[in-house]
Amino acid sequence: MGTFCSVVKFENLQELKRLCHWGPIIALGVIAICSTMAMIDSVLWYWPLHTTGGSVNFIMLINWTVMILYNYFNAMFVGPGFVPLGWKPKNSQDSVYLQYCKVCQAYKAPRSHHCRKCNRCVMKMDHHCPWINNCCGYQNHASFTLFLLLAPLGCIHAAFIFVMTMYTQLYNRLSFGWNTVKIDMSAARRDPLPIIPFGLAAFAATLFALGLALGTTIAVGMLFFIQMKIILRNKTSIESWIEEKAKDRIQYYQLDDDFVFPYDMGSRWKNFKQVFTWSGVPEGDGLDWPVREDCHQYSLTIEQLKQKADKRVRSVRYKVIEDYSGTCCPLNRGIKTFFTSPCTEEPRIRLQKGEFILATRGLRYWLYGDKILDDSVLEGVSRIRGWFPRNCVEKCPCDAETDQAPEGEKKNR
Ligand SMILES: [Zn+2]
Ligand SMILES: [Zn+2]
Repeated sequence: MGTFCSVVKFENLQELKRLCHWGPIIALGVIAICSTMAMIDSVLWYWPLHTTGGSVNFIMLINWTVMILYNYFNAMFVGPGFVPLGWKPKNSQDSVYLQYCKVCQAYKAPRSHHCRKCNRCVMKMDHHCPWINNCCGYQNHASFTLFLLLAPLGCIHAAFIFVMTMYTQLYNRLSFGWNTVKIDMSAARRDPLPIIPFGLAAFAATLFALGLALGTTIAVGMLFFIQMKIILRNKTSIESWIEEKAKDRIQYYQLDDDFVFPYDMGSRWKNFKQVFTWSGVPEGDGLDWPVREDCHQYSLTIEQLKQKADKRVRSVRYKVIEDYSGTCCPLNRGIKTFFTSPCTEEPRIRLQKGEFILATRGLRYWLYGDKILDDSVLEGVSRIRGWFPRNCVEKCPCDAETDQAPEGEKKNR
């Protein structure tokens, strides 16, 4: 309960603006519709309160709603935990193993990543979740996962109520004619008779709520299994990706290395206990992490630095030959460019003739990369990065001046 109290403290009041976003509005709307409809259907038609079963059913419905909202708001308002601004490792020599975040003016603690939406470095960042309008990370991993477990369970209960209400209310009133189906909505044939008849509006509302409940069960249930896998392996989505890139890098350069992921404690139970504790506060401080015996404290961040250097080597320099406005589907860049615009939330960048770009990846008609900025533009902006049409740029002839390739690099893959 301690964490929940922090929600109402004055300094957290500004956190309430997290609610003003399509994610929380839709999520809370679905919770409100499903739980209200389940309670209305129970009390009026399916399982009235004057029976013992009805009362237990009603209390359970309230219970689901409270527990779901409690974990939802905890995940949203307690948040993932941010790396303190200006943070440095205790031992200053260790900073060579870490990346530096220009926005937070701090070293990136192991397992932390900078979130562009939160505009802070997030401890053990997994992903930025639009439904809670916050990141999922170190501090809220448990409440986030509990929400993902409880929401489908509550929805299954609600769906059961919806189906049974519609079934019992309609069953006796469907009369099959020769080629017509007459639905008589006039009266309920149930003992005791409901005070309010189950009308067409109630039927439509129940059916709608059933759709929401089943959709939520499937979608959120799948997310729960993904999060459990992450917790039991102690490897976030971002870290899985880093590990994949590490294997790729080792294979590419045909190195003898073997990348061992350092945070998997080797036992699912130990990994589980790092996130779920009786106090509700996860183990550790979110900055220092226990590692396997055969790993260095900074194994992962060292690998990240290697990947960063590698990316620079493997990227290609381009010169902008035509202006591009930065729109998603440009009309003037050809029909193929228009229809193959990458389907991601990643930004497009505006290009001006004469600028230079360092492209790190690409599709047939689109490229993704960083603008090469001269230091005068750099005030407050760390980098400008995004997608742009391939036919606005041409490969630089002056490729020789890019960084030196490390030993053993193969030019063509
Ligand atoms: Zn940062
Ligand atoms: Zn975020």
